Amino acid sequence: MNADLHCHSCVSDGTLTPQALAQRAKERGVELWALTDHDEVGGQRGAAEAAAALGLPWLSGVEISVSFCNQTVHIVGLGFDADDATLAQGLAATRGGRRERALEMAQSLAKAGIPGAFEGALKYVGNPELISRTHFARHLVETGVCADTSEVFRRFLTEGKPGFVPHRWASLRDAVRWIGDAGGLAVIAHPARYRFTANEEHALFTEFIAHGGRGVEVVTGSHSAAEAVRYAEAALEYGLAASRGSDFHSPDESHTDLGALPELPGRLTPVWELLAGRIQPAH
Ligand code: AMP
Ligand code: MN
Ligand code: MN
Ligand code: MN
Repeated sequence: MNADLHCHSCVSDGTLTPQALAQRAKERGVELWALTDHDEVGGQRGAAEAAAALGLPWLSGVEISVSFCNQTVHIVGLGFDADDATLAQGLAATRGGRRERALEMAQSLAKAGIPGAFEGALKYVGNPELISRTHFARHLVETGVCADTSEVFRRFLTEGKPGFVPHRWASLRDAVRWIGDAGGLAVIAHPARYRFTANEEHALFTEFIAHGGRGVEVVTGSHSAAEAVRYAEAALEYGLAASRGSDFHSPDESHTDLGALPELPGRLTPVWELLAGRIQPAH
């Protein structure tokens, strides 16, 4: 099954509309699709309608920013009720403070000799509540400060670098419960991306499971083949279902296109087997 259960639209830090993403997913052979904007479900209705019109099976999705052991962890939610009020409140609270954070990021960049970054980043923002580091990265590329967005993150916007501002996101417990209580399934996103010690990673997995989390991304645009093998083993060890998603943001920036991922290793339980009743079928 060519499932792609992780990507971003202009409702968060992607560049395409939910409708254009649905079209692109369909053209690239995706057989089950979810749009997972950061901390925001404002694109879900458009995604669902576009998927239905294209005959593309669809699941609701979101990627929630969480603070855990002094790092930011991303929790993907799939197959929840996108109109759930508690989830909506939780996401609004998680988004709150992004603007103040962005103003502080711009101050820090100005001190490093890069003025006007807040206004510059805003030009790329599709959703005023969702100004993210990605929008700053696009501005720094556009103005010639860096050659591409990965250089921006290497030189700026990450811990210890100019433009980085620590931020308090949702708790792991809240994020997993909002998703589960809205009828969805919570998934640890791209686990290889975090820089946890073995003990911290074990704490992440065990606490995630204790709060009701049931899945982990194994095959993602952010994992190498070796990392996919490693987290396939972790999925088996912890009894988690496995997810698969490109984390596509933009045709110009993303290395992995929609639907262009290796298969999940066969011995894993795919998350979509646990979500069969939550899929909006192709008409
Ligand atoms: P924020 O939620 O504002 O902290 O922004 C996080 C987003 O920045 C992620 O979802 C990615 O889209 C992007 N990002 C983080 N690290 C990198 C990186 N090394 N290269 C490119 N994009 C990155
Ligand atoms: Mn992103
Ligand atoms: Mn992420
Ligand atoms: Mn993502």
